Amino acid sequence: MLGIYGGTFDPVHYGHLRTALDVKEALRITDLRFLPCRTPAHRGAPGANPQQRLSMLELALQKAGTGFSIDRRELDREGPSYMVDTLASLRRDGPDRPICLILGLDAFAAIPSWHRWRELFDLANFAVMWRPGAKEPDWLGELADLVLTRREEEPRKLASTLCGKIAFLEVTQLAISATGIRNMIDQGKSPRYLLPDAVLEMIQSQALYGSRSLTAI
Ligand code: ATP
Repeated sequence: MLGIYGGTFDPVHYGHLRTALDVKEALRITDLRFLPCRTPAHRGAPGANPQQRLSMLELALQKAGTGFSIDRRELDREGPSYMVDTLASLRRDGPDRPICLILGLDAFAAIPSWHRWRELFDLANFAVMWRPGAKEPDWLGELADLVLTRREEEPRKLASTLCGKIAFLEVTQLAISATGIRNMIDQGKSPRYLLPDAVLEMIQSQALYGSRSLTAI
């Protein structure tokens, strides 16, 4: 099964990396791709540009071993990064291959605001990670019916389903967010141990997120 871990990765951190490994093992994903978006459709401009966010991901994965890679198709596509277009393109690459989109509960709850969101369930399965601090939304509003009919209690079964199933997974609870890291840097605090050293070194050497004032690392 192909696993897609989408995000802005502004910057990538251990909250992404550890939970990706949790989901990869739980679902027996053979090919897990981090998929950075070019222009986030639902938020303001990232602090780092697409090339910098990609470079940070490459640095984070340089010792990751097999099974993890980066899919750059959203970076290479002009215009907003709509997940429905991305999944359609991945589906064209492998018409018979199960696909699973991996995302935190916060991101999943926001799906009804995504472009042509109902079509997403005809293109991929969903692995929804319980993320620290994420409140169970009151219960997922427009998604409630979909969750009722599509929920899979045995996550491993996703690997034998092309699309349309939703599994909820507990992952390692790491209260780390890219926003928190950017804020720490902006305030001159070190985010060390929340993200790989190589990523922190790049942030410093390129003075990202206002890191000029960040002295000790
Ligand atoms: P930001 O704070 O800038 O919104 P973020 O840390 O949430 O960034 P994103 O790149 O926006 O990171 O998130 C990509 C995906 O990773 C989302 O599905 C999000 O829920 C998930 N994610 C991010 N951090 C964690 C974490 N600590 N634990 C579990 N999932 C996470």
